[in-house]
Amino acid sequence: MLRNTWMEVNLDDVAFNVRKLKETCGKKIITVIKADAYGCGDKYVATAALEAGTDMFAVSSEDEAFILRNEGFMQPILILGATNPESTSMLIKNNISTAAYSMEWIEKIIEKDCAGLRVHLKVDSGMNRIGFQTKEELKKGFDLLKEHGCIIEGIFTHFSCADTDIDFTNRQYEKFREAVEYLQYPFQWIHCDNSDATAFFKDPLTNACRIGVSLYGINTYDHELHYPVSLKTRVILCKHVSKGDKIGYGATYTAQGDEIIATLPIGYADGFIRANQGRKVYIDGSFCEVTGRVCMDQCMVKLDHEVPFDTEAEIFGAHINIEDMAKELHTIPYEILCLISPRVTRKYIFHGKELKEENARIITSTIS
Ligand SMILES: *Cc1c(COP(=O)(O)O)cnc(C)c1O
Repeated sequence: MLRNTWMEVNLDDVAFNVRKLKETCGKKIITVIKADAYGCGDKYVATAALEAGTDMFAVSSEDEAFILRNEGFMQPILILGATNPESTSMLIKNNISTAAYSMEWIEKIIEKDCAGLRVHLKVDSGMNRIGFQTKEELKKGFDLLKEHGCIIEGIFTHFSCADTDIDFTNRQYEKFREAVEYLQYPFQWIHCDNSDATAFFKDPLTNACRIGVSLYGINTYDHELHYPVSLKTRVILCKHVSKGDKIGYGATYTAQGDEIIATLPIGYADGFIRANQGRKVYIDGSFCEVTGRVCMDQCMVKLDHEVPFDTEAEIFGAHINIEDMAKELHTIPYEILCLISPRVTRKYIFHGKELKEENARIITSTIS
């Protein structure tokens, strides 16, 4: 894409983060690249993560898993969420593992020819999203799957407050441990940690950690990870306005005097949501307020000095931390990343060089 609004992802930093967390936990790494790797490009992030020693990929649905297979990734893939029972034969054929999370789902699966389906049993240890709530029911599900020839490859749970509440996390872990011990089965994969837990939670039971957001440097406990992602655009117009002039839809901003206003080609259709009005972006050494409403494709900012056409503007990156931005927007960095829409150009740095689309294809076709 040619448009001058782009997201930059340094894959060397992604690889650094994977290596660092793998070293911290000393376990197998399941790299979570759902939602197109949180908007950062699944095949690119997957490539970097593999190089850094990833043992398995995790995604949210069969669609995402098939995309990865079609891109040439032949490593183990786990679907963390619900799959459509109709997808069962495709999962078996493509050697994709999936979560087994309720009796109702299992009953639908065993109506199909499910022999050879790889599953990870999902234990609900307190988040109340998906998973078995009691060990008795879990055992029933386990027996049914086994009886129908499924390969019971793993067992897992998900922490709901690893970033905020260690007692709650410990209680979730205890419930998970009881469930695992109750089944007395040699699971190949036992996992409960998300990114935050990977950095601090130590236990003798599990043998793998699932890391998602920390690929992008975001972690409550580990502040030495690198931030690989930035979002940038360029000034397309710089103009002077006078006291009393209004800016943008709804004329919500009034110039207080002579002011310099720049227009940027980024708007809410890029994921730069309207709540950014009043926040700052970074242009040529200054933090500049977003004045007036953010439009679909453009927005206006107030400068303290004139800048030429094409001057770079940083939305987040080296000068504006994505975690601070999230706080100001009353959200989390995950949401900021995931909302960056596909029409924003992606640029990748890998092995110190900018990766061109052609090279990127060569890289992924040689992986597998
Ligand atoms: C998204 C997700 C993860 C990754 O969480 P992060 O906080 O991004 O590391 C891990 N496990 C499950 C089940 C998830 O849904």
